[in-house]
Amino acid sequence: MPDPDRTPLLHDIVSNLHLHKGCNEKPLPCARGVGRRCKKWFPKPEALISTFDERGMPLYHRGPADIHVVAYSIYLLYYFCAHINVEVRIYPLSR
Ligand SMILES: [Zn+2]
Repeated sequence: MPDPDRTPLLHDIVSNLHLHKGCNEKPLPCARGVGRRCKKWFPKPEALISTFDERGMPLYHRGPADIHVVAYSIYLLYYFCAHINVEVRIYPLSR
């Protein structure tokens, strides 16, 4: 989560537009499959650094307060003030 004291506008935009809230509802509107896990993979794991998993999906640096934050671009949020999903999947060139 953006720091509300250093970047109050960004904090407000992320709080209002970029939090995954489906996992807090009963029944889970975002659950599917065996075990009824969130189909959008929330809550996301905490991570000390940003990296990629074995499928090439990004794993972003996240602290405990960020596990329900949908990944965002600061520039796109400030410009459009809207929920915008942008993720790039990386495929290895060879194995
Ligand atoms: Zn969910």
